[in-house]
Amino acid sequence: MKASELRENFLMFFKEKGHKIVDSSSLLPADPTCLFISAGMQQFAPYLSGEVIPPYKRACSVQKCVRVNDIEEVGDNIHHTFFEMLGNWSFNDYFKEQTIDWALIFLTEACKIPKQRLWVTIFKGKEAISKDIESKKIWLDKGISEQRIFEFGVEDNFWGPIGKTGPCGPCSEIFYDITQTPCEKDKDCGPNCDCGRFVEIWNLVFMEYNKTIEGKFEKMVLQNVDTGIGFERLLTLLQNKGSAYETDLFVGVIKKIEELANIKYEQNKRAFRIVAEHLRAILFITSEGVLPSNLDRGYVLRRLLRRTIVYAKKLGLKNDWHRPIIENIVENYKEQYPEIEKNEQKCKEVIAQERQKFEKTLSRAILEFDRILSKQDKVKSISGQDLFRIRATFGLPFEIIKEITDEKGYIIDKENKDAFDQIMEEHKRLSRAGAQKKFGGVGIEQIEDEGEKQMAINLHTATHLLHQALREVLGEETRQMGSDITSERLRFDFSCPKKLTKQEIEKIEDIVNDKIEKGLIVEKQKMPYEEAIQSGALAFFKERYPQEVFVYIIKEENGSVFSKEICAGPHVKNTSELGKFKIIKEKSIGASLRRIKAILS
Ligand code: ATP
Ligand code: MG
Repeated sequence: MKASELRENFLMFFKEKGHKIVDSSSLLPADPTCLFISAGMQQFAPYLSGEVIPPYKRACSVQKCVRVNDIEEVGDNIHHTFFEMLGNWSFNDYFKEQTIDWALIFLTEACKIPKQRLWVTIFKGKEAISKDIESKKIWLDKGISEQRIFEFGVEDNFWGPIGKTGPCGPCSEIFYDITQTPCEKDKDCGPNCDCGRFVEIWNLVFMEYNKTIEGKFEKMVLQNVDTGIGFERLLTLLQNKGSAYETDLFVGVIKKIEELANIKYEQNKRAFRIVAEHLRAILFITSEGVLPSNLDRGYVLRRLLRRTIVYAKKLGLKNDWHRPIIENIVENYKEQYPEIEKNEQKCKEVIAQERQKFEKTLSRAILEFDRILSKQDKVKSISGQDLFRIRATFGLPFEIIKEITDEKGYIIDKENKDAFDQIMEEHKRLSRAGAQKKFGGVGIEQIEDEGEKQMAINLHTATHLLHQALREVLGEETRQMGSDITSERLRFDFSCPKKLTKQEIEKIEDIVNDKIEKGLIVEKQKMPYEEAIQSGALAFFKERYPQEVFVYIIKEENGSVFSKEICAGPHVKNTSELGKFKIIKEKSIGASLRRIKAILS
């Protein structure tokens, strides 16, 4: 089965079973402190928590995901930084029996995987939360024998809640038996054994509890299902390969690298895989408008770029090696993700620029290492201070420093590594304090320039007016997906399936300017979170609020409420302080996701 067929078959399978096919969301979550979307469920979080009533009872998707935490694993058979997740959801509709039944039918009938190669896990229970005997019974009934059902605790088989409280529940995972041979350490090895015999392909999460503030697990009224398949992993099995790099997702790319490097994949699989995998991730991340920087998402991108460059060097790739490889990846993915084709040129330029900078840096860093070590006579060991200096001067991530030192036969012993980590920690603490100046409401107090501070406050109030104006013009279902305020402009991300027309933009501006001209009072009230929500105050679903919250209310002259939002402030006292509101940009930032930038003058 080809990659495109697998995506299609999965979606069609669930569509036939009453699921709404939902597009992948953008890779960027609305909450800027959360780096990337890492699972299919994230775009459905407000439905799963019950905060928003879902417009459908069943959904399925193929979601783009990035997991930065797995970066060190890349090169193995099953972990990628960018990957796709196939998922299906039930919003208080079907539950365990149906989920398991369809999962089995999909794998054994649509994908033709022999049932005896599937092993499963269930939650074994802990304290007040009981063992998931229902799932176990269902697996048994469906013909998975007892020896192939393993029980695990909270770490492996209990999901959530995302914050301290909220929906959570047991998971049941499906594994594929690759080798069908027990490992040497353990004759009875099973799922979660690290010997490589099993690969986890599908995680089924049954959200049936609510964790309360007191830490109790109560049965929820809503029963939701969230599932996720690692697309690359399933595809690997279906094509009978050892890893995704040998499937049609990557063969062309690997071939291209072989040609360019003039060596065989088998000679350095890890480096081939890292270059191919990271370039794919870089292509997708830059398609979301992220540029390399030293902070947050930009830093992840930079890390990926630099690792790619180091491994490309290892393979002896020369000249403009990145261009043909990128072209190959685009060719493979453009049908499913048209955004990457649009981004192709920009992505190539980003890589070219980073290469220009970084290749020079690398050579200088290597000279610096040599200089440090030439001062010592015998021991080829580098102190924590020196490591940090190289890290800071050249912006080299530790893993790359390690690559260089390994290559040169230098030693980084534990003591020096610990010293380095400690200096890094302190450095991070200081830069975090600095980063808070990049205010999004909460940090406004930290701006020192009074004029800038006032402008940020004004833009903050304008954001509330804009939010309500959007809802009036585009419909109540319009949801805030993110917000970012500087002392120059506001930025507001929201859900909306289509481009705004010129008329709509004008109408939105008119509404905001009308509220400004009327000089409406901005009221602030303190109340319990529950009460605020019940009274219809808007809340941002990505935010975790305290029990007591502030609500900012802007009322019309006749006393009716125009805008009401839970917010930490600060805001102006009267809308007349704002000046003239103007939208300077409106654009798409992903499937059903749009961004507005606006200013006050
Ligand atoms: P693992 O323990 O194997 O790393 P996980 O427990 O982190 O996986 P989940 O969070 O349950 O995975 O994600 C759902 C599915 O996504 C997994 O069953 C797996 O098939 C796939 N998956 C998870 N991480 C990756 C990754 N880095 N690359 C590719 N696929 C992944
Ligand atoms: Mg898992």
